[in-house]
Amino acid sequence: MKIAVFPGSFDPITTGHVDLVKRALPLFDKIVVAVGVNTQKKYLFPLKIRLDWLEKVFADEPKVEVASFQNLTAHYCQKIGARYLLRGLRNSSDFDYEKTISQLNDIVGDGLETIFLISRPQYSHISSTIVREIIKGGGDASPFIPKMVDPKI
Ligand code: ADP
Repeated sequence: MKIAVFPGSFDPITTGHVDLVKRALPLFDKIVVAVGVNTQKKYLFPLKIRLDWLEKVFADEPKVEVASFQNLTAHYCQKIGARYLLRGLRNSSDFDYEKTISQLNDIVGDGLETIFLISRPQYSHISSTIVREIIKGGGDASPFIPKMVDPKI
């Protein structure tokens, strides 16, 4: 069974994330959208709410599971028997960052393979960081987030 983990903060999930998962579905038997919990990091939305949004967004996708994990992504993949990581590339700064992480994960994860999809042009400007700035500034983030995500919590 080909299992991929799509790790991220999803703070909050954006339409860019959703598009990436949908495009990757034909490649895998199962995609685990997994919220990585870093105890040092401050998030805008609580873990429970980020997980609820993910559950709602992927409710109609039987091949998608939602989960959370702590510590190393590579160890989490080993634990659940996932041999693939899914990541998105929007621009060259994503590439520079992701290249190093994927090379590390190959070693730490004992051959864990990262599959990259280049974002579609209509999503390449969307990031959770920008969405958080819009929300904090009192703007309307609805063009960038799935309709079941209500940031007014
Ligand atoms: P992280 O905290 O690990 O950066 P994110 O939740 O911001 O987590 O992103 C998770 C993954 O989704 C990353 O691989 C990122 O490149 C990808 N991603 C984020 N936004 C988009 C987008 N608009 N289009 C395609 N991929 C995206």
